Amino acid sequence: MSSTRSCNTSIKMATNKESRGLMPLFDWFANRQKSGPISRERQQPEIADGLWNKCAACGVLAYTKELRANQMVCLECGYHVRVDSDERIHQLIDANTWTPLDENLRSEDPLQFRDRKAYSDRLTETQEKTGLVDAVQTGEGQLEGLPVALGVMDFRFMGGSMGSVVGEKLTRLVELATQKRYSVIIVCASGGARMQEGMLSLMQMAKISAALDRHREAQLLYIPVLTNPTMGGVTASFAMLGDIILAEPKATIGFAGRRVIEQTLREKLPDDFQTAEDLLCHGFVDAIVPRTQLKKTLKQLISLHQTQTTTHHLVQWEAMALSSSSISSRVSASGGVEAQRAFGWANR
Ligand SMILES: [Zn+2]
Repeated sequence: MSSTRSCNTSIKMATNKESRGLMPLFDWFANRQKSGPISRERQQPEIADGLWNKCAACGVLAYTKELRANQMVCLECGYHVRVDSDERIHQLIDANTWTPLDENLRSEDPLQFRDRKAYSDRLTETQEKTGLVDAVQTGEGQLEGLPVALGVMDFRFMGGSMGSVVGEKLTRLVELATQKRYSVIIVCASGGARMQEGMLSLMQMAKISAALDRHREAQLLYIPVLTNPTMGGVTASFAMLGDIILAEPKATIGFAGRRVIEQTLREKLPDDFQTAEDLLCHGFVDAIVPRTQLKKTLKQLISLHQTQTTTHHLVQWEAMALSSSSISSRVSASGGVEAQRAFGWANR
């Protein structure tokens, strides 16, 4: 009730000022955001810097070096501090095996978009600030000795928004993985499609999905890892197309934002709405994996899929060449059937 009342008041104030021609629309939105309640997103620090880091969840101070050694997971309460794409690649890929792809793809600002700032200026500023060219890093490398194609979104770059460069880089990554028969892992962290690229950003959803479909037809494994936050067009496309969908604990995952839904429905949503835990209950996510267990879990899943695929091909080949009576015992002995039962997989 109170939030509705304050919302109406701010609209009234803004309308009065606008009618006197004092406040442009963008300033009104900026003021409204400043005066509104601090969202859960904005409360989170980007990444720890300095010697000490105060946990956003429990408030306990941790020595940054120890926190990093624990993959930026609070040693006290298990809160997952947001990490950038470089740190994530370091956590998942074996040392000296990472080969980045398409490092120099840049957006051309085809719509000449301008809000309070020109999109081209915003891009340049963000590139200088983050050292990234756009909001995703892609490449191939070894994960505990297994070759994988990995894409990591970076929330620092314009909220990890999906523009044409993000779409193109991920599509090329998936196509390379299909060609080389690699499993694909995409670590998602995004506010959704990049509005500054309009329809071009929305088209990326279809493009990546089509590439993933060809990867699927080749019977290869795709695992998206949903981190905090995964929203909008990313959730509506490749984040939800995985064979096995993993999420980090307490990650916010959804399409429209919580506040938008509450204002539309005029209802208060439950506290756990759009959390990884809620999505797990409703079957949108297959498992919640703590960051400290992520690399090991990914290795197990990829190994099991390879065992199963190999077993499947072996069975097909043997079925043609040998008598069927000896096959079933060999499949059981190899563990492929057990793996399939344990994870509920079916060969696609
Ligand atoms: Zn904590």
